[in-house]
Amino acid sequence: MRFKLKRTCKCLALLVTCTVVYLFANCGLNGCSGRSEYELEPIHVADTHPKLGQMLNVEDFWTPEKNKIVPNGPGSNGAPVETESENQEAKDRAYSEYGFNQFISDKISLERSIKDTRHSACKERKYPQNLPKASVVIVFHNEGWSTLLRTVHSVINRSPPHMLQEIVMVDDYSDKEHLKKRLDDYTKKLGKIKMVRTDERVGLIKARSIGADNAVGDVVLFLDAHCEANLGWLPPLLERIALDRRTAVCPTIDFIDHNTFEYKPMDPYIRGTFNWRFDYKERPVRPEEMKKRKDPTQEVRSPVMAGGLFAINREFFKELGQYDPGMFIWGGEQYELSFKLWQCGGQLENIPCSRVGHVYRHHVPYSYPKADATLINFRRVAEVWMDEYKEWLYDKKPELRNVDPGDISDRIALRKRLKCKSFKWYMENVANDTVRSIYEPLRASGPVRNPSTNLCFDSMGRKAGGELGLVTCHGLMGNQAFQFTFLDEFRQDEGLLGC
Ligand code: UDP
Ligand code: MN
Repeated sequence: MRFKLKRTCKCLALLVTCTVVYLFANCGLNGCSGRSEYELEPIHVADTHPKLGQMLNVEDFWTPEKNKIVPNGPGSNGAPVETESENQEAKDRAYSEYGFNQFISDKISLERSIKDTRHSACKERKYPQNLPKASVVIVFHNEGWSTLLRTVHSVINRSPPHMLQEIVMVDDYSDKEHLKKRLDDYTKKLGKIKMVRTDERVGLIKARSIGADNAVGDVVLFLDAHCEANLGWLPPLLERIALDRRTAVCPTIDFIDHNTFEYKPMDPYIRGTFNWRFDYKERPVRPEEMKKRKDPTQEVRSPVMAGGLFAINREFFKELGQYDPGMFIWGGEQYELSFKLWQCGGQLENIPCSRVGHVYRHHVPYSYPKADATLINFRRVAEVWMDEYKEWLYDKKPELRNVDPGDISDRIALRKRLKCKSFKWYMENVANDTVRSIYEPLRASGPVRNPSTNLCFDSMGRKAGGELGLVTCHGLMGNQAFQFTFLDEFRQDEGLLGC
């Protein structure tokens, strides 16, 4: 018995020692709050900001959601909602009409809760009490009721009212009945809504410009019509613009599943970029840069915006000539705006502490009145902003050479007037480590083979995002041809895929 007790004591002592050593190794002297992994800049937690005055913890800003009982139904906390098999037909109809499962969206509350996807450090940050006011611009063409209104409710519920000037809704000539009187009546009751309707289909680029023209807030903040603004989303965006009116900002775009409407976090430490076919790409902040970042709330400089969700000082947007009025419908406008922002004295940042969910459609459900709109837009961007680098684009996308860009003289004059820098400057100073030269040297290329098994990586003919296979090496390159680049990127040999 005594022996047993002695042994128990020894075991306990060992356990305590192990626990202490473990805690010390993992938590250090700072305690175990998780604080030891990061260190916020002192200016981010001070009571006053030297330029912007009194500061308040982001959690202490009052928002209407704080006075509400948030419903606990399907989809609450951003959980997925499955479609029962007997509703398959309704789901298929919804997909063909909207490009996502509007049937399931309709089952979910317009005021549902979603996961707070911010890094814990974001919740410790303070922000100025007085920030510029935002006019949120939402353009829409034949959007579903619940997705559109959930966007509107999330903005109202999760924004401090003194930072939200208004929501400007621009109806781009929708013909759905629910977007007419019913929408007018509903939004009138919400307050702060300005409804603008176009009298012909103008496309999202012009519709956004119309929204900006109707806005009166200090900042215009664009959102798609199928978004959900997350907790504390607004102060982190407005602060950056308050600090420098030439900074445009993008929230971190979280992912809302088009089938289940599950709300999922996305990596906030990414930069927007493109390839020479003008496909928009995202690249993570390089590992060595990540190591240098002690404050996880800090902004990320980004060469290009994704397009739909961003905020900019309203006057500065005007000075930059807003969007190119010669562009049509959809596509390329994010390059035009991003290039001119950087080349003409502004900058673009992604903000990790601001989160907005977006439903990525399964397919585009609406028709384009002008089939080659995107190509015309690309050509305009290339001719106005890209100098000699436009040839790189035309080499990879030769169909652009035959497109008539229309009259670009006023855009060239704008570039001159604003004394904008060259595209070479942009490539060397902004996009230097994100956009590949088409003459890029490689670290290695060829098949990736395990010599002991003679198995090779194989794309199996799948496109980006698909799973990689491991099959017997055939030595014919094709799906087994890979490249390792100086941007530390491991990828399929694009040359062999013709892009
Ligand atoms: N939109 C519009 N007019 C159009 C096409 C789209 O007003 O001709 C709106 C659409 O309702 C949405 C926004 O523009 O709010 C962005 O379009 P979409 O979501 O289809 O683009 P994506 O997110 O797929 O790039
Ligand atoms: Mn969208």
